[in-house]
Amino acid sequence: MFAAPLFAGKCVAVFGLARSGISCATALQLGGAEVLAWDDSEPSVEKARAEGVRVTNLHTVDFKSLAALVLSPGVPLTHPEPHWTVIKAKAAGIEVIGDTEVFARVVQGSGARMVAITGTNGKSTTTALTGHVLKHAGLDVDVGGNIGNAVFNLRQPVRDRTYVLELSSFQIDLMPGLSPDVGVLTNLTPDHLDRHGTMQHYADVKARMFAKQRDGQTALIGVDDEWCSAIASHIHAGPDVRRVSVARDRMDGISAPDGILSDRSHGKQRVQIDLRDMAALRGRHNWQNACMAYGAATALGVKPEMIREAMHAFPGLAHRMQQVASLGRVLFINDSKATNADAAEKALSSFEDIFWIAGGIAKSGGIEPLEPHFGRVTKAYLIGVAAPEFARTLEGKVPYEMSETLPRAVQSAARDAAARGGGVVLLSPACASFDHYKNFEVRGDAFVDTVSRLPGIHMTLGSSL
Ligand code: ADP
Repeated sequence: MFAAPLFAGKCVAVFGLARSGISCATALQLGGAEVLAWDDSEPSVEKARAEGVRVTNLHTVDFKSLAALVLSPGVPLTHPEPHWTVIKAKAAGIEVIGDTEVFARVVQGSGARMVAITGTNGKSTTTALTGHVLKHAGLDVDVGGNIGNAVFNLRQPVRDRTYVLELSSFQIDLMPGLSPDVGVLTNLTPDHLDRHGTMQHYADVKARMFAKQRDGQTALIGVDDEWCSAIASHIHAGPDVRRVSVARDRMDGISAPDGILSDRSHGKQRVQIDLRDMAALRGRHNWQNACMAYGAATALGVKPEMIREAMHAFPGLAHRMQQVASLGRVLFINDSKATNADAAEKALSSFEDIFWIAGGIAKSGGIEPLEPHFGRVTKAYLIGVAAPEFARTLEGKVPYEMSETLPRAVQSAARDAAARGGGVVLLSPACASFDHYKNFEVRGDAFVDTVSRLPGIHMTLGSSL
């Protein structure tokens, strides 16, 4: 925790007192601001009070007396309708910003650098991988933001420290001054439209990542979808725009359609890195994340050989196609984060000879969209309330067992894979976990726990967070 002297001697409202709100309020207080903190939930107000934050009912405050409203990114700014504090702030003509904007303003002028990462998918992986590569190269790095570390819980900005921040669209919406040294946009597909209204508005918010970037800064944009491609072509001045594709080879930019990352400038090959044997970066989606991390590290002066070495050693993120163990020639993969068919497809298309553990609470459509990948599945082990529905989809196409519980599924899958002499035991449930587990993390941990008790197992577990 450190001081944010931005509003010294002024009065600032902070609304939304979860972890990031409390740490931002404390940083502003330490920086000499008079903070008026509030939340719609009584327990949150009490918790903030207990942590030494000055709480004040903002209903009773004249917002004209404030310099700014610092809003939690979880609170609606525009859709479905602006929160009451936003309406009061707009009426009073004061700015509405987030804790990440306050942080970014402290970073500016400190000599520290910022890599900011956003996109519909791959944010956390790209953030963790970029942080890992930069640390491996010996840079002084802090990783935070939406990935789980509130920015004011990071270390104080000093010259040459580099921050790698994952930013959600809600955070970007509250960052009018965003101007990262390296801005990354992985991809855009419809998501969170309840909070953004339209796809166009969602894309407009993401595009702000690059709107204020200057000469000497870098924009890395995945151009495999039309939304990001349009964003890239609308940048005419300012940053060095580097286009990234895993759908096709690029003569100018970074591409990896076959898993071989290639960096070309005006057709001239600069670097090639083979991503195909990197255990934690399996699958085309991860090649996109690797291209982004490569582009960010290169922009900060890290040499390609160092990047390659670091990527090899990347342990991966927990619960996302994470290789956790091996038993002879059988691999055990924890992809508990795959709570829908779309996410499970990434895993199914990344492996062969799969002993697939699936089930839980299914999303509409179940696993029907995964049928093109059924040929890769040797046998399925069905758990949770979705099991009968999934069994109907698999009938006559893939052998399956009604395992009912995760531990039983692990035992059966491990036995069958061992009998076959190899294969991949994959937890990629295509379902929410709430029937048996509190969340996907607890489900993934239960998988790892059961796997770790198998006789003769060799755990290879690692996570960069
Ligand atoms: P986010 O932080 O954006 O939710 P993660 O890195 O946590 O993304 O990855 C979550 C899931 O999204 C992964 O398990 C995988 O199924 C999918 N995914 C990861 N990277 C990408 C990508 N670049 N493109 C599409 N899907 C991806």
